Amino acid sequence: MGLYLYGGKVLMTDDIREKIPYYLGRGGKMEQLPGFIFRQEQANMAEEVGNTLIGEMFLAAEVGTGVGKTFGYLIPAILFAVEEGKKVVVSTRTRALQEQIMQHDIPDLKKVMEVNFTAAEARGRENYLCWNKYINIISGRKNIEDNQVDFITAILTWAEKTRTGDRKELSLNSELMKEWGMVAADRNSCLRDKCKYHDRCFRLKMIRSLEKADIIIVNHALLLSDLLTEHSVLPEYEHLIIDEAHSFNRESFERLSTRFSRQENIIIYNLLYDVNHTGRGFLNYLKGRFPHLAPLLMETTDLIKRGVELNKELFDIIGAGSDDFNYTRIVKGNFGDRQWMEEAYPVYLDWQANQNLIKMKLEDLIPELDEDDGQELSSLIAVLTGCGDNGYKVMEEELEADHCLVWIEYDRGRAAAICSSKINAGDTIDSRLYQKLKALVMVSATLAIADRFDHFIDQNGLKSYARQERLYCLLEKSPFNYDKQSCLYLVDDMPDITHPKFEPAVGQVLFDVINAVGGNILVLFTARKQLRQVSEMLRPVCKEQNIRLLVQYEDGDFGTLIDEFTAASNTVLMGLETFWEGVDLKGDLLRCLVIVKLPFRAPSDPYCSAWEKYCVTQKKNSFTEFMLPDAAVRFKQGVGRLIRSEEDRGAVVVLDNRLTGKRYGQVFLSSIPIKNIVHIKRRDIGILGDWI
Ligand code: SF4
Repeated sequence: MGLYLYGGKVLMTDDIREKIPYYLGRGGKMEQLPGFIFRQEQANMAEEVGNTLIGEMFLAAEVGTGVGKTFGYLIPAILFAVEEGKKVVVSTRTRALQEQIMQHDIPDLKKVMEVNFTAAEARGRENYLCWNKYINIISGRKNIEDNQVDFITAILTWAEKTRTGDRKELSLNSELMKEWGMVAADRNSCLRDKCKYHDRCFRLKMIRSLEKADIIIVNHALLLSDLLTEHSVLPEYEHLIIDEAHSFNRESFERLSTRFSRQENIIIYNLLYDVNHTGRGFLNYLKGRFPHLAPLLMETTDLIKRGVELNKELFDIIGAGSDDFNYTRIVKGNFGDRQWMEEAYPVYLDWQANQNLIKMKLEDLIPELDEDDGQELSSLIAVLTGCGDNGYKVMEEELEADHCLVWIEYDRGRAAAICSSKINAGDTIDSRLYQKLKALVMVSATLAIADRFDHFIDQNGLKSYARQERLYCLLEKSPFNYDKQSCLYLVDDMPDITHPKFEPAVGQVLFDVINAVGGNILVLFTARKQLRQVSEMLRPVCKEQNIRLLVQYEDGDFGTLIDEFTAASNTVLMGLETFWEGVDLKGDLLRCLVIVKLPFRAPSDPYCSAWEKYCVTQKKNSFTEFMLPDAAVRFKQGVGRLIRSEEDRGAVVVLDNRLTGKRYGQVFLSSIPIKNIVHIKRRDIGILGDWI
């Protein structure tokens, strides 16, 4: 088995090189699958993925909608894994995509491919039944509330029979499933090696299945948390494919952040000793079982009461004077922040000292208890310690560090948490992940801006690999005929987006769009307040016209809204961020897409602020280096919702006049595949009906 060199690039072994066209070439084996269409772009992509894995390179690949990127990376990955005896990990953005691969794509490939391979799915521990928790409940060792009895009764038969312990096997209603947490495995309560049910543990079974697999399918969240927990889930791997890679940097930022939370502190206090319901909590249970420990237990509960008071005092100071902030506020370290920091710090130190005292008292109790109670108390101590560690990291290590960003999350006017993260997630991912890999493929339909990958490479900490010529890029365009299938209308005479007349104008234009198109309209917003305002304007009009208006946060969750949207043709769906990416509606289900504003991130978004701070430290312009390219990629994602198959036809309407009025508008327009662009006035919206 030899390697072939061509123009300095390492090419595939004979076996893999021959097999890719055998499966993905014109007339190839994949055509045995119903609905499969040969795409040269897909075969090209598969060849490059194969080259990357064999040649130990890094690849950033933008592969347009309709190319079939999943088979484009799975087939070379399977061939490589089987022939070379190496594991390939495939990471997707969401659990839904992970399930799509496991339940549809892998079974399809098993039907067609002439190699034996095993694929396993890595899932978060919260999906698995924990025997220890379950048996504690059914043996009566742990008391449960009346409303939890129904849930336990409903899962009894399943729990005794299941081979996987995976919650996805259950088909209970959402009300009952709210109680799943009481039997779910979780990091804090897991007894690990000391667990009596270690050999039967479902989560550990899943982890063992990963050891034997050629291909492991994981999601980004689990991949990232595995990095943070020193690979507690995934076995060693050196070959990684990251799908939907456009969002990987943001997810890395979020996953690598630390959250010091008011509520999480309260939860652990309540588990130990519920100050409001004095009959509850583990220490109360111990008081009944071990009367001779009463004095020590009393001292400990007094410390917990003090912890509750200090926790309240601390978070009240952190959130003081900011009732207006409902979501997030960035800590800038300026005068206003200095004031609360100075006031909060001594309280924080008292809280931390009190935590240590609680911990010491709890540790003193352990030798006095039997094995089971001792184990349970140990796991509670671990949770308490975790809260203290989070406080230390945010308040002592990162609060004033130049390389970190700190922000406060508010819930109904109160500080709910103070969080921190490194400002450049790419550097952290480089040291924790990329440097340990032999081959990396990052693929998405939206990586490039005007066909260039500079922003993606920079943002994801891949610059040094590009300099070493270890990273190369691939651009495979969509096979769809966008000129025939789509048209983008720019409404030139909209008021400025900051003008008070903008929202009423949006309402009027949407009304005209509805009149012209009828339904199957998706409207993408960037701000919740604006979504609410426009929804209030449109709702009565839609009712009058018998148009079904579906609004995020008002008419159901994502899945419900999509189901209702696809169930009838006279529907208009209005949504925020999740709808810019997660919608895949083919044919007539979506005929018109309206983009209200260009998707620049709000400065209060910690991810955006972190990049701004990073650009300042690097003496770079944050608008050109981050805000603009980031918004262009998100715009491209949004526009990409419209044409999902060769049969689709539709229009995009953009209501933000910055697209034509600002020079940077060209960056947005040059990034999307639609080149059929028409400038119209508001009064001409009716012509949309002619196009569609
Ligand atoms: S090892 Fe942990 S998750 Fe598994 S059964 Fe035991 S306590 Fe539960």
